[in-house]
Amino acid sequence: MHQRITSDTVATRYWHALDDGRIQCDLCPRFCKLHDQQRGLCFVRQNLDNQIVMTSYGRSSGFAVDPIEKKPLNHFYPGSAVFSFGTAGCNLACKFCQNWDISKSREMDTLMSRAEPEAIAKTAQELGCKSVAYTYNDPVIFHEYAVDTAEACRALGIKSVAVSAGYVCPEPRAEFYRMMDAANIDLKAFTERFYHKITGGHLAPVLDTLQYTVGKS
Ligand code: SF4
Repeated sequence: MHQRITSDTVATRYWHALDDGRIQCDLCPRFCKLHDQQRGLCFVRQNLDNQIVMTSYGRSSGFAVDPIEKKPLNHFYPGSAVFSFGTAGCNLACKFCQNWDISKSREMDTLMSRAEPEAIAKTAQELGCKSVAYTYNDPVIFHEYAVDTAEACRALGIKSVAVSAGYVCPEPRAEFYRMMDAANIDLKAFTERFYHKITGGHLAPVLDTLQYTVGKS
């Protein structure tokens, strides 16, 4: 479990200090360089007192029990139920986002439900779900919350399913996918031009994540 600073803020590992006094977040290839108090593009990670913290720990924007085929996974416990949840914010800026109200939310009110990792795992079990999905917005940005929830799920025999755009750096990627049992990684297009113009990201890191996860399976 990650170290709490407040009830919904945790310390993070993937950052380093720059010579000009800013802190660079090294979780995703956007590498936001943040002044004190400034938030990254994903909104939920912030430079607070010379460290990068995650500010949406234990808070969810919504829950649903879905068929696993809706994630969409066709060969992972077919016919089973999955307990889906997400938070707010995103590290891409896709112009076509269908979950824009949570992915681009700048209101912490979007994060209405208090949900500790153990409570999510227990609820999934009580609802007869075989797995928990980290979805709606990209779990890359709520890395610490997702990893702790996956750990709580594993302790109860509940599987973990990542639904992600795969825009993440290698070290956090390895920590995250060590805890995942299945993944749907969106490849949004085949060209760097599309990624740059429409998502505000780059294609190569996503291809790296796809190769990494295929190699793990
Ligand atoms: S995770 Fe957020 S703060 Fe960190 S580099 Fe990516 S967009 Fe920026």
